[in-house]
Amino acid sequence: MKPFLPFTRPSIDADSIAAVADVFRSGQLASGPKVQAFEAALAVYLGSERHVRVMTSATAGLEMALQVAGVGEGDEVIVPAMSFAASANVIARLRAKPVFVDIDLHTRNINLDLVEPAITAKTRAIMPVHFAGLPVDMDALYAIAAEHGLRVVEDAAHAIGSRYGNRLIGSFGDLVVFSFHPNKNMTSIEGGAIATADARAAELFEQYRFHGIKRNAQGEIDVLFPGTKSNLTDVAAQIGIDQLRRLDGFNARRLELAGRYFEELAGFPSAVLPARGDSGHSWHMFQVLIDFPRAGMTRPEFQKRMADRGIGIGVHYPSIPSLQYYREQGYRPQDTPVAERVGRETVTLPLFPAMADEDVVRVCRELREMLH
Ligand SMILES: *Cc1c(COP(=O)(O)O)cnc(C)c1O
Repeated sequence: MKPFLPFTRPSIDADSIAAVADVFRSGQLASGPKVQAFEAALAVYLGSERHVRVMTSATAGLEMALQVAGVGEGDEVIVPAMSFAASANVIARLRAKPVFVDIDLHTRNINLDLVEPAITAKTRAIMPVHFAGLPVDMDALYAIAAEHGLRVVEDAAHAIGSRYGNRLIGSFGDLVVFSFHPNKNMTSIEGGAIATADARAAELFEQYRFHGIKRNAQGEIDVLFPGTKSNLTDVAAQIGIDQLRRLDGFNARRLELAGRYFEELAGFPSAVLPARGDSGHSWHMFQVLIDFPRAGMTRPEFQKRMADRGIGIGVHYPSIPSLQYYREQGYRPQDTPVAERVGRETVTLPLFPAMADEDVVRVCRELREMLH
């Protein structure tokens, strides 16, 4: 029996582990020189004069980005109905209102035709999600934002290394938030980053992530507002530095593996494939839609049968309005029917840089056998 193939797995090499051991020996474990070096490396990677600040998660970053964008109680923020719950949770935590917009069936990104009709006098920001690493049409989205005077907080949790045309996601745009959770395209164990052109916003992020503290020229502290505690550790930052060095290699391999999936699944009628995009797609995930009632099994049964064959299948994600909290707030999943369908039918096939081409062939063989 082949070893179990998970749907994803981070690639941490021996050099990274050795470098982390050195950080432990340095005695500097909380935020110090490695955090500064990680931020500097991210700024070099993204280029074009970007200010980058790291924090313990994209969730923390999204929340502080919304705050800096001026989102507060009673405001509305437009967000796709298909994303990880964190995209909407951070809006709700600020007592603002998530306004869910439906997605496109193939790109699984926010349907830009539906954004303008969702704008009201209370709308303050739009939060596009570059789903699975496929960039949203940024020219169209930023044109809408400019026309209506809205801030943009990009949930780029899936999109580190993704390119829109020839520009990296995060190298332009208002407030762009990345995740370095172990399942994402690069990791710092847990971690996140915000990239922006706005130096003042970057200074605010330093304060938000660390108690609202500002130091004067003499190094004395003052507290400007009750900030939170979401600074990254140097141990995590060291892993992030090594991962960033390998990121383009990881993403090139992801692109190859996605290409193998398209070859193997061409003309396979039982699955709706994702939009292919171009070489700027970072392929955070490869997801197909399956009509489970027609296939004569439930999705958990399908996952169990694939697991029995040594293959891990993920589900990313139920639509956000279908989750209990959002239903209790009066949202109806059927109001965003494409997201609702994707939420019911989606399965995430294994895709990570250390996979072999043969693994893709094996996953597709099992899929065909099970679904005909
Ligand atoms: C993973 C993820 C997040 C949250 O990232 P964390 O770093 O785990 O907080 C937010 N949005 C999307 C779309 C994600 O996939």
